[in-house]
Amino acid sequence: MTQLSERMRALVQPHLAEIEPYDPAFTPCDINLSANENTYPLPEGVREAVDEALAATPLNRYPDPMSNDLRDELAAWHGVVRENVCVGNGGDELLYNFLLAFGGAGRTLLTCPPDFSEYAFFASLTQTAVERVWRDEATYGLRCEELLAAAVQADLVILTSPNNPTGDVLSIDLAREVCAACPGLVMVDEAYGEFADEGTSVECLLGECDNLVVLHTLSKAFGEAGIRCGYVLAAPDVIEAFAAIRQIYSVNVLTQAAALTAVRKREAFAPVIETIRSERERLLSGLRALTEPLAPQGAVWAGQGNFLLVRLPQASVVRQRLRDEFSILVRDFSYAPGLEDCLRITVGMPEENDAVLDALKTILAE
Ligand SMILES: *Cc1c(COP(=O)(O)O)cnc(C)c1O
Repeated sequence: MTQLSERMRALVQPHLAEIEPYDPAFTPCDINLSANENTYPLPEGVREAVDEALAATPLNRYPDPMSNDLRDELAAWHGVVRENVCVGNGGDELLYNFLLAFGGAGRTLLTCPPDFSEYAFFASLTQTAVERVWRDEATYGLRCEELLAAAVQADLVILTSPNNPTGDVLSIDLAREVCAACPGLVMVDEAYGEFADEGTSVECLLGECDNLVVLHTLSKAFGEAGIRCGYVLAAPDVIEAFAAIRQIYSVNVLTQAAALTAVRKREAFAPVIETIRSERERLLSGLRALTEPLAPQGAVWAGQGNFLLVRLPQASVVRQRLRDEFSILVRDFSYAPGLEDCLRITVGMPEENDAVLDALKTILAE
């Protein structure tokens, strides 16, 4: 891992001296299944509509700070009102702003790793302490009792559903209990929510739990990771706090135009999402067939996102060989605490999934 130069370590704020710049370990490959993007082409007509919207967008004027047209469309979709929605420059900005507004020195964020590494990163940037209730080592299930006990002491909680990288979905009952237990705000990150079974979103609790914040993004199911657009749903006073601390123009005019078009055409994405869900089940059985003979060093966890977590002997070597011999990029988690010998594979198009299964078969046969 890279570090800041000695000179910079002396000049940055003391709590930032040990920071390690994010390294997505990206290498250009023919098949990229490393970042949970939607690898399918945009649905028929969507790209054309986006291009038209972009062409009609003046560039000389500042953006609408609150993205109100987009907010209204998102609110109508989710059955809430504009006052329940805040848009951000990707879900990441909203995660950062969550910690910036509600975390900080002397505050504690509760997380359940293995989960999205950005939570701990943004906590460290904002000097927020992190309390961890680790998931079960074998199943990656949440430890409910410990989680609820810790939530009582926490200022903030972030739970992920489906969780990245383990793929499991948070139960609505547990989410309700965590909201009741925590004196502060509870964010449920549903970046992959569109890929999960119907009726699993905790959004239905928004009316009941006024400390619940639900995070969404257009980066995953809606295939627009490049435009950087995410949003949170929460009670109006929570949204007002998000609005008050945000960088005014962080969501630019092109992002607003492209996002509004995609959200208006959201129904067109349903078949793609359905295909990814069925490809996920096909990839799961293919990986099961490969890993079962290797148990316990081989395993695959059934998940509800657009990715699967798989454990293989010498995973980092396997990942390197996939990249160098087959030009297939997957995410290596083998160095991450609690994820020994694990790789995360994004569910791609059928031919991409076939390629990764064939390559793994070849590598594992040796
Ligand atoms: C991808 C992802 C996000 C947000 O991604 P953006 O591209 O910044 O919108 C948030 N949470 C999790 C768990 C993710 O995997």
